[in-house]
Amino acid sequence: MTDFAVRLLDWFDQHGRHDLPWQVDNDPYWVWVSEVMLQQTQVKTVLQYYDRFIRRFPTVQALAAATWDEVAPYWAGLGYYARARNLHKAAQVVAEAGQFPQDLDGWMALSGIGRSTAGALMSLGLRQYGVIMDGNVKRVLTRYFAIEGDSAKPHVINQLWQLATDLTPVQRNSDYTQAIMDLGATLCTPKKPLCLYCPMQADCQAYAQNRVLEFPQKTAKTPNPTRQAQVLFLQVGTQYLWVQRPDQGLWGGLWCLPIVENPELLQKVKQQFGLDWRLGMQIKHSFTHFHWMLEAVHVEVDQVTALQVLAALGMQDLPQQWLDADQAKQVGIPQAMVKLLEE
Ligand code: SF4
Repeated sequence: MTDFAVRLLDWFDQHGRHDLPWQVDNDPYWVWVSEVMLQQTQVKTVLQYYDRFIRRFPTVQALAAATWDEVAPYWAGLGYYARARNLHKAAQVVAEAGQFPQDLDGWMALSGIGRSTAGALMSLGLRQYGVIMDGNVKRVLTRYFAIEGDSAKPHVINQLWQLATDLTPVQRNSDYTQAIMDLGATLCTPKKPLCLYCPMQADCQAYAQNRVLEFPQKTAKTPNPTRQAQVLFLQVGTQYLWVQRPDQGLWGGLWCLPIVENPELLQKVKQQFGLDWRLGMQIKHSFTHFHWMLEAVHVEVDQVTALQVLAALGMQDLPQQWLDADQAKQVGIPQAMVKLLEE
């Protein structure tokens, strides 16, 4: 075992996190759900959702047997819904196969599982040998070795995987995996690293050069574009007309109020049906590649007109239902819809 691994494990034994809910049982499914939730989300947020999800879907078979409409509410609020759709699909594949994949390639063949998540599942889920490269590991290694170059570029990523593989021990592999994630999450944090408490400080290159916050390096990104859209509150009494968005694309498979990105079309529909509408609040929702400015448009209609409006907007083939605000929050709508509803 390398000196790096020995020191990390000593630190982990005293200061690491040993009581996360998915660590209690060596269940690959529990680890899998946690890893998918943790892909874009911090532990403290995941903890609010994980228990509820596992209570409702305690096994991979239970998740596989559920419909997407049953799963979505348990992911609502975590965002990045493609993760949940992939998890649901992959659970069906595993349930059908009757067992969990037993090697790295087997895990990577499932929807939504990349090399690092597969490594975590080998290590933490199956307690076999696995190497990971999540955001925490990337940050620790680029700092410890003062690795120059954009950490999103393939040659830097390859270099990091090589270093991670060299450092990751066979003995106590799952402890090491948890330890390096914990180091990144609790000491070697993005903005305020606590180097004075770090077991790696004595030979950390970034620390020695007083350049800790310069790593991992990134090429300056061009700012994300902003797109405008209108969100239609087609209201009858206390209920609104909701549509289920197509599986592919933004908020795929989720129930949303009709979203229109074509202002000319919306104006045409307004005139065609003589709609008397009121503009409501505008909110900004950011995705990884663009910002969406969503403006609420309130209009009271009768049911027949609402369906005709939907058809004129080309959404007649999407599944539809009438829901009031409380009912809508139960079916797993995106956070942006919740905000608009709470106006
Ligand atoms: Fe990270 Fe600081 Fe530790 Fe280096 S000394 S690994 S920068 S916490």
